[in-house]
Parts: sequence; structure tokens; C-alpha cells
Amino acid sequence: MRIVAVLAIVAGLFFIAYEWAESPASQLFGATVVHGPANLREVALTFDDGPNPPYTNAILRVLKTERVHATFFVVGRAVAAYPATVRMEARDGDAIGNHTWNHAHLIVLDPQQIDRSLQRTDAAIEKAAGVRTTIVRPPFGARDWLVLSELRRLGYTPVMWSVPLARDWNDPPPAVIARRVLRYVRNGSIIVLHDGNRGLVCAREHLATHVCDRSNVVAATRIIVKALKRRGYRFVTIPQMLHQQ
Ligand SMILES: [Zn+2]
Repeated sequence: MRIVAVLAIVAGLFFIAYEWAESPASQLFGATVVHGPANLREVALTFDDGPNPPYTNAILRVLKTERVHATFFVVGRAVAAYPATVRMEARDGDAIGNHTWNHAHLIVLDPQQIDRSLQRTDAAIEKAAGVRTTIVRPPFGARDWLVLSELRRLGYTPVMWSVPLARDWNDPPPAVIARRVLRYVRNGSIIVLHDGNRGLVCAREHLATHVCDRSNVVAATRIIVKALKRRGYRFVTIPQMLHQQ
């Protein structure tokens, strides 16, 4: 009986240690970008898992109307399916980052598979929008020493986030998404929202509406941008933020 209790405690401690090591701000597995300078009144708005028309396009319209820029961490398979949307992101002055070819959990891939997933995505981005990216956000925020050293070896800067995820993929109402984000924003915050769902090509697959519909994220984006402007924040892209560090 005692050994079972000890094993349970050890397993529990391992789980806590793992959760801590994998938390977005943890630097245990190597350096990542978590936030920008704390002395500047600016934030970076980032969108993962797209492109996912028409929602990504609607977000671009909000950004344009509000005259702010964001960073899109795109999934290669969706870039190949919707190149025009990625072209629009680049043309609008938004930054583009790599979020792997098929939203892979990088920890389970070997270095060659990581290279292939990232380089295939880079090639799709370049074909679609004529730009090269050097920033990567690992899907699920999952990383370890091997993943991060491989990203560095390939010349990428891994980018995490500082505002806790708003769980916008569960499709809560816009006001809820906005509230979950706004309460944590401070100088240098990196915010994550999702304009897609793991790079799923929704037009091609028969998926339930809520899997692909990001209308609530579009509306939340508008609320968040307006509120942060009122608080005096400027919006920078991740590459702009990196230049200041
Ligand atoms: Zn993702």
C-alpha cells in the first residue's frame, strides 16, 4: 500500500515538473521569446492555425480598419490551400510565422521530420506571399531540448506567448474571449488568438461548423484592439518586437 502511495506521489511530481517545464514562459528547454520589452507601451497580437477563410480575411479587415498589424503563425497545409489569404496578410504589412506543415507535435518527430515540416511550410509561404520567415511557434507550445536546438540550428527564433490562452478554440462568445485576454495584458505582452483550427482545410473536409467558424474570434479581435488602444498600447509585429530587444 505504501509503495503505491509513493509511486502516486512520484508520478504526481513528474506531472507537475512536466507542466512547469512545458509552460509557455519556461526557459528550461532553451531560450524562447515569451514577451517584448517591459518599458514600452506595446503589445503583439498573434493568430495561430490559419489561414482559414473567410475568418482570416475578416480579421484582416478589422486590423486594416483599426490600422494595426499582427503576426500570423500559419500552418503549411492551409497555406498551400489558401495562398491568396497569406498573400493578403503580407501585403497588409502583417508578419508571417511558421506553425509547421500539419500542426505536428514536434516532440514526437525526429530532427529530419522537423526540418521537412518547417521547410515545406516556408516554401509554401514564400510561394504564396513572396516572403521568408524565421520565426516559429511550436504547435501546442510543445518543445524539449532536441526540438529547440533543431529550431536554432535551422536559424529559427521560437516564439511563445505571455498572455494565458483564451481557449478561443472552444468558441466562447467574443466578450468572454476578450475578457480572458484583456485582464492579463501589460507592456510587452504577446497575445495568442486562433483564426483557424490546427490548419484544417475546412472547405475540403466535412467538419462541424464550430470546428472552423471563427466569427467569435473576429469579433473578439475588434473588442481587444479597441480596448488596448484606449489603454494607450501600440501594436507591433513579432519581428518588430524582436528588433527592440
Ligand atoms: Zn496551433
